[in-house]
Amino acid sequence: MSNFHDGFQRQFSYLRLSVTDVCNYRCNYCLPDGYQCDDKHDNLSLTEIQTLAQVFANHGTRKIRITGGEPVIRKDLSDIIRVVKSTPGIEDVALTTNGYKLEEKVEFWFDAGLDGLNLSIDSLDPRVFQTITGHDRLKEILRGLDKAICLGFKRIKVNAVLLKSYNLQEFDTFLRWLKHMPISLRFIELMQTGDNGDYFQQNHVSGEDIKQRLLTQGWQLKKKGPLAGPAQEFEHPDYLGSMGLIMPYSKDFCNSCNRLRISSSGKLHTCLFGDGGYDLRSLIQHNDQAAIADEIQQQLLDKKASHYLQQGYSGSTHHLAMLGG
Ligand code: SAM
Repeated sequence: MSNFHDGFQRQFSYLRLSVTDVCNYRCNYCLPDGYQCDDKHDNLSLTEIQTLAQVFANHGTRKIRITGGEPVIRKDLSDIIRVVKSTPGIEDVALTTNGYKLEEKVEFWFDAGLDGLNLSIDSLDPRVFQTITGHDRLKEILRGLDKAICLGFKRIKVNAVLLKSYNLQEFDTFLRWLKHMPISLRFIELMQTGDNGDYFQQNHVSGEDIKQRLLTQGWQLKKKGPLAGPAQEFEHPDYLGSMGLIMPYSKDFCNSCNRLRISSSGKLHTCLFGDGGYDLRSLIQHNDQAAIADEIQQQLLDKKASHYLQQGYSGSTHHLAMLGG
């Protein structure tokens, strides 16, 4: 069985699987008015997730990231982790979360086989954190993070979206924090979506400035592994933690694209900023694994070389909670 590939010799070894589009946060760059309920929660079931994991694993996927919305809202999250992790061929299972119930649940996820945790923390100042997310939960999330570190995950990453009016001035605070934290901090450039145009204009900052600051402070760019995605990783001998920059507006960002996305309703998205997903649901429900694989490969042949974010085009993506980032 051949690996999923596109017309530009890119191989896809990484799946981002959304298990719900519901989110309990109101991040001002994503869902400022909170999740708008449309009563149509038709999330992939555990059996459907198992089918998908098998198909992807059979065609070269080695890593699956569970995302949302907020995936922790799913009551069967530990079962999802267990099912994905026990799929032959899947070597790495990760979770992206806003830290909801982290302290209470992280041990269950670890026991279920979770390898990596990505935690979104946009500010280390509790008031700024609340202004961005709508929730006064920074302290409890940091307690959950400490617990996760003690459990011994293979990898813990903390995501912070770079926001000119909110957290840019916290750069030094984040760096000081990293000195003693065994994590990888990821600064992500704010991306324009269908819903956040004005906010984007006011808050987007290029990661290039951050990169220059890191280089002048003695941080060194790490060499990329063969399966590495688009993040640029930096390390410094005086710091326990490392630093990653995700710069989707930089030239050639998409050249190393290695990821596919499935929405919580079973649609395939070959690009985060494409023109809508391809519905695989009925094939998934019939467990028709050969047909699912054929459709994915067929869709991939239409994948473009790059997104058009630089031109202000974000496709059908209103906000990233739809797909999980
Ligand atoms: N609820 C989970 C969380 O908060 O991590 C998973 C879903 S969330 C959409 C995934 C990541 O996308 C988060 O780190 C979030 O900060 C980031 N994100 C959301 N909207 C974004 C945007 N417009 N630009 C850049 N990153 C964004």
